[in-house]
Amino acid sequence: MPEQYRNYIDGEWVAGASWSPNRNPSDLDDVIGEYAQADAAQAKAAIDAAKRAFPAWSIGSIQERANILDKVGSDILARKDEIGRLLAREEGKTLPEGVGETVRAGHIFKFFAGEVLRLTGEKIPSVRPGVEVEITREPIGVVGLITPWNFPIAIPAWKIAPALAFGNTVVFKPAGWAPGCAWTLAEILAAAGVPAGVFNLVMGSGSVVGETFVGHPDVDAISFTGSMEVGRGIAQKAVSRMAKIQLEMGSKNPLVVLDDAELGTAVNVAVQGAYFSTGQRCTASSRLIVTEGIHDRFVAAVSERLGSLKVGHALEAGIEMGPVVEQPQLEQDLEYIGVGQQEGARLAFGGERLQRGTKGHYLAPALFVDANNQMRISREEIFGPVACVIRAKDYDEALAIANDTETGLSSGIVTTSLKHASHFKRHADAGMVMVNLPTAGVDYHVPFGGRKASSYGPREQGRYAAEFYTTVKTAYVAP
Ligand code: NDP
Repeated sequence: MPEQYRNYIDGEWVAGASWSPNRNPSDLDDVIGEYAQADAAQAKAAIDAAKRAFPAWSIGSIQERANILDKVGSDILARKDEIGRLLAREEGKTLPEGVGETVRAGHIFKFFAGEVLRLTGEKIPSVRPGVEVEITREPIGVVGLITPWNFPIAIPAWKIAPALAFGNTVVFKPAGWAPGCAWTLAEILAAAGVPAGVFNLVMGSGSVVGETFVGHPDVDAISFTGSMEVGRGIAQKAVSRMAKIQLEMGSKNPLVVLDDAELGTAVNVAVQGAYFSTGQRCTASSRLIVTEGIHDRFVAAVSERLGSLKVGHALEAGIEMGPVVEQPQLEQDLEYIGVGQQEGARLAFGGERLQRGTKGHYLAPALFVDANNQMRISREEIFGPVACVIRAKDYDEALAIANDTETGLSSGIVTTSLKHASHFKRHADAGMVMVNLPTAGVDYHVPFGGRKASSYGPREQGRYAAEFYTTVKTAYVAP
């Protein structure tokens, strides 16, 4: 019998209304455990507990808050190999990617342990004589956090840590496809002494638990990361009841490669950005926009590199790309590979299912050439190891193609020209710009987020997180 993992509600470990198996995408015979699935009543119980816990936590000792977050960070770092392994086992990232993401989560908690003590206000003179004005930040209340499967510990960390740091209480729903890291994080938070009701883990489906959070009047704010379709629905429901929202969603991130690029750098940046983590990153470079003078050399060199890319079981040493996360995602990837061919793009490499020693969702990295920016494969997020090369005549055309998309999370350029790098940095219509670096791969202490349909609401991470997780109060005092 696989082990059963319960929800954490009001300081108690609670069995679900049902259970759902968590399988290893590298080996479908490997069941990691059975994870509790809450019903709407349990989701409401978690919200009630968070509401009851809010008054004491929100005005409680900031030293206690800082200590708890610091301890959570230390515990994650101490268990990085074990948690990184669990991450690789449940999501399919390679072991080094899993450990790297876990370390990042630990650092995030430590960063926000410091932020607890750094929250400032302002005291300024009033335009009315004898009156003083104070501007302070206060917690919002109960926040509902809804996360995707592709960063199963980092994204929960970058929502939970600031939410708690600034005095909010939390109801947290992780993605159904990768609940193991979320459960382990809850175990660490509970052991670190988070008071009952302050943090609640509510595993269960989006349509039950997620919708209960979004619709409930006692959930004061919702922070969501996931697909655009679900994000749009959440926005409509949450705004109709005036809840505060923050949405981070998908993107068709461009990587521009100019004639003057150093070819080795261009290949590394493109392959890392498009295919590492199996291309399952909101910041993945799915559009490679390449100017004419380097186009053929670039395509040949990327194809050669993909030929040597080691695809296989995520826990095996030396593997560079693990499997696709789940069967429906694999089917979506394969469908788009078919769509690209029907649209007239040519598959220069990969795109076929791979067999390995264990039954898993293995897919060869796919590189399309002769694509244009109007094709569906260039406009719709595939969320797999699939990239398309779009030829551009010069820098100006490449920039125009890069910006011709409804999304705007991360945008990259590979060039040795300072002039073009500087121009691109200013004119790329994206929340994040990378010069000679992959579009994916960011620091944890600076803002993260996009423009256009990729994001909605204040930025996440770094000190900018305070914008979402606090509300501003202006007090006038006549002594
Ligand atoms: P989904 O939108 O399918 O799911 C995200 C979360 O929302 C899951 O926890 C899901 O639950 C939940 N959910 C589903 N339906 C509802 C609903 N009706 N109401 C409330 N919650 C709901 O995204 P994926 O998990 O498939 O993640 C992939 C997507 O995430 C990609 O589009 C990717 O670009 C985006 N992403 C964006 C990032 C960013 O920062 N911009 C970072 C990482 C990923 P359940 O799992 O039970 O369905």
